[in-house]
Amino acid sequence: MRERAGMDFLQGRVLPLLSLLASFLFLYLKTSSKLSTSDCSLIPYDRYWISSKRIVTPNGIISGAVEVMGGNIVSVVKTEDLKGIVGSTQVVDYGEAIVMPGLVDVHAHLDEPGRAEWEGFSTGTKAAAAGGITTLIDMPLNSYPSTVSEEALRLKVEASEDKLYVDVGFWGGLVPENAFNTSALEGLLNAGVLGLKSFMCPSGINDFPMTNISHIKEGLHVLAKYKRPLLVHAEVQVDTQSHAELKDGIGDARSYLTYLRTRPPSWEEAAIRELLTVTKDTRTGWPAEGAHLHIVHLSDASSSLDLIKEAKSSGDSLTVETCPHYLAFSAEEIQDGDTRFKCAPPIRDANNKEKLWEALLGGHIDMLSSDHSPSVPELKLLHEGDFLKAWGGISSLQFVLPVTWSYGKKYGISFEQLASLWSERPAKLAGLEFKGAIATGNHADIVVWEPDAEFELDENHAAYHKHPSISAYMGRRLSGSVLATFVRGNLVYSERKHATTACGVPILAK
Ligand SMILES: [Zn+2]
Repeated sequence: MRERAGMDFLQGRVLPLLSLLASFLFLYLKTSSKLSTSDCSLIPYDRYWISSKRIVTPNGIISGAVEVMGGNIVSVVKTEDLKGIVGSTQVVDYGEAIVMPGLVDVHAHLDEPGRAEWEGFSTGTKAAAAGGITTLIDMPLNSYPSTVSEEALRLKVEASEDKLYVDVGFWGGLVPENAFNTSALEGLLNAGVLGLKSFMCPSGINDFPMTNISHIKEGLHVLAKYKRPLLVHAEVQVDTQSHAELKDGIGDARSYLTYLRTRPPSWEEAAIRELLTVTKDTRTGWPAEGAHLHIVHLSDASSSLDLIKEAKSSGDSLTVETCPHYLAFSAEEIQDGDTRFKCAPPIRDANNKEKLWEALLGGHIDMLSSDHSPSVPELKLLHEGDFLKAWGGISSLQFVLPVTWSYGKKYGISFEQLASLWSERPAKLAGLEFKGAIATGNHADIVVWEPDAEFELDENHAAYHKHPSISAYMGRRLSGSVLATFVRGNLVYSERKHATTACGVPILAK
């Protein structure tokens, strides 16, 4: 009998109660925090608050919360104004961790299609998400084909489908083949590249030949109409004595200094001097007004930088970036044969590094980018250690935030400067209107990180690049650990986990 009564109780009370609860729950989720139907996010809310005592906004660092709804930031509220507003909606509280706009990396090589064994969209954007990068712009070379035509861009976008954990835009290539062909360039720009990129020296990739200053001038004039930038690798081969000697076989190829001598600062200076003969066309009232020239990965902090400062003050529409590896390393410390450090232009001496920091924090270098340029490990020739023959490119994508912070702390870099150099200004360069700052109306692209958390970057550290071992940062102790990354409101990375589905989108200019 007792059993029977128990059954009655279960059937009569518990089940109706459970179904009542279930319907309440259903109603609650439908009305208040709408359960996400996809696996794009590690949290199931469409509307929620991210709170912290340190939120980096364009108006300074505040204690408060960021309200996210439908993938956008709908309000940013200080703690004192928060009471009663948050109420019963979902709050993700990060305590004292830094809540900052997600990084916008305007210079990354993801190598797909064609060389996905070097990196690829899936591994590259997983690494980006784990590193707090919410948007990256893919370079037009090292993939195959190079992104120099409308058709090649279509192949890029197709190859990226369902593989993007963060949002990805694309630069197109300005090469001799399309430079004087306005309709081809316009086809590429109309198809959605955010701007163009060209080289003033051999790129290392056969189907991406170098341009001369006439090609660059022509490109700027086409870009003026679109108000999109031209990014230039500014080095020209000046045949220095040491270079001639090296070609004759003098110099130990395993010595970093041998490589350094092959690409002296005068290469950067000569290129920039040439560029400035055409950037004046971008001044107000001049024939390429509306176009913009951006010098990628500046390494020389001496004469090159002086030329750039001068041109900017004359009204040229000009910006310049440098990369964490020029700020973290110096030539003196690179061991013989350690080709992980080979890149172009090269990492210069410690004195140059000091000057780069000074220029960066003094506002003369506009922004930072990774220039993540991986390859298969075999091409780095780590066994031979031949600096002259090894692939030139440093693999860094996931580590750029902790690296900038770890090495920048002693120079006094602030969280606001990090946000400006890594988010706000790069977003502006790429024309990303709704990215780059924690502000109402923007995409909810956010990184949460703990600046005091230290870690050893070794093989036990979860790195998501295709070939983490070839990163020049391996073996370093860094501070600054990424806790969470949100892309358009989706929590795409948290505590060493990625969302199950890659829901980043390709960004195409209209
Ligand atoms: Zn590059």
